[in-house]
Amino acid sequence: MTQSATGRNESRTESKVEALRAVRGMNDIFPDEAEVWLAFEAIVRDWLARYGYRNMRTPLLEHTALFRRSIGEVTDIVEKEMYSFTDALNDEHLSLRPEATASTVRASVEHNFLYGGPQRVWYTGPMFRHEKPQRGRYRQFHQVGAEALGFAGPDVDAELLVMCARLWRELGLQDIRLQINSLGNLAERRAHREALVAFLRAHAADLDADSQRRLETNPLRVLDSKNPAMQSLVEAAPRLLDHLGDDSLRHFEAVRAMITEAGVAYEINPRLVRGLDYYNLTVFEWVTDRLGAQGTVCGGGRYDGLFEHIGGKPTPAAGFAMGVERLIDLMRGAGRLPAVRLPDVYLVHMGERADRFAIRVGETLREARLAVVSHAGGGRFRDQMKKADASGARVAVIVGDDEADAGQVSVKDLRSGEPQAAVPLEAAALLIRTIARVGVPGEQGATD
Ligand code: ATP
Ligand code: MG
Repeated sequence: MTQSATGRNESRTESKVEALRAVRGMNDIFPDEAEVWLAFEAIVRDWLARYGYRNMRTPLLEHTALFRRSIGEVTDIVEKEMYSFTDALNDEHLSLRPEATASTVRASVEHNFLYGGPQRVWYTGPMFRHEKPQRGRYRQFHQVGAEALGFAGPDVDAELLVMCARLWRELGLQDIRLQINSLGNLAERRAHREALVAFLRAHAADLDADSQRRLETNPLRVLDSKNPAMQSLVEAAPRLLDHLGDDSLRHFEAVRAMITEAGVAYEINPRLVRGLDYYNLTVFEWVTDRLGAQGTVCGGGRYDGLFEHIGGKPTPAAGFAMGVERLIDLMRGAGRLPAVRLPDVYLVHMGERADRFAIRVGETLREARLAVVSHAGGGRFRDQMKKADASGARVAVIVGDDEADAGQVSVKDLRSGEPQAAVPLEAAALLIRTIARVGVPGEQGATD
């Protein structure tokens, strides 16, 4: 423990205990926000199911070696963004996952998941990167990702892109543009790399410090430079696309033809690169101008070399990952936050027998699939009715000792202000459904 912690302990007797705060860059999500997340996740689950992608869950902690090998030593993530530590109990080097493709592939190799043939899977959950927190950039953030494992053809690349385009539509999002590129194969990238390094060396005097370092470690990433002073040089640099052979070009053209057939617009961005050997052929990003600097909402591509790279059999694969916080931010901006479910009923009860009867009333209504918030903590009738109004419920069900004795409840429409009707408990659910126009699940025309 640090000195300041000791200091705090000592001062505890004199002053109030200092309140603890969340770790910087890690967000608490309260119910108003979490309900938006649930609605988002429901849309996402339905969307993925319609393409035959099945959910997969892997641990949040992995051996650090997995990410070093799969993401690469010379990347921002591995160089400076990972939460890594030594588990002192058994001296293992572990990291919180910064992304989940590596874990998905690790698990697939470890359990021979592709034994029966290719698999389509998806995941969602928190990822961890030690970055500078700002809008759209957090230290714990969330991704939804899909991976098509064991598929080699351009059809799956196109499927992944068409899927994303559909999701944007179903989330009500416009202005998300698709940028694609092809990285070709290893030999083509090597040829390009040589041409690129020769070009950059010839212009070494014009390189900024970052780019000079990258020229030696990972020259492709010079093309990634955000420095305006570097842009004209980057524009003039040899393009990977010009080094692609026939097979790579054919793959790229097939992807383009298929997404065009599906009505998905795209731009080719020859500077879209991943500086790692096992990425190949198709790479893509979905970008928007509506989120300021953090404009990429989804990135992905083909990674035919990754399985072998972490010790599996050669296995083609492609996938993408999208940032949940950025998408929800976009939805908010577009006024497309999904409606959250309010309770159907607020249950008001006063009196000793009524309090007991209310338990049965609530359970009867919930059995009929209604969402019921039962007043807790007693209090005056007027105050309970205020809570009922504030709850957003359409209907108040009111129980006093007289109603309890008669096995009845009073039902009040909180919106119309109609006078309340007393009905037998057995008839209450139907009356509430009529007032609130809540459909019965499984029946035609049901709305919930
Ligand atoms: P960026 O260039 O914005 O750092 P990246 O290339 O590091 O993105 P990927 O590793 O491809 O991102 O992750 C896929 C998606 O996850 C990104 O497009 C983005 O939407 C989201 N994402 C990545 N890092 C963060 C973060 N720190 N906070 C919130 N979302 C993130
Ligand atoms: Mg990043």
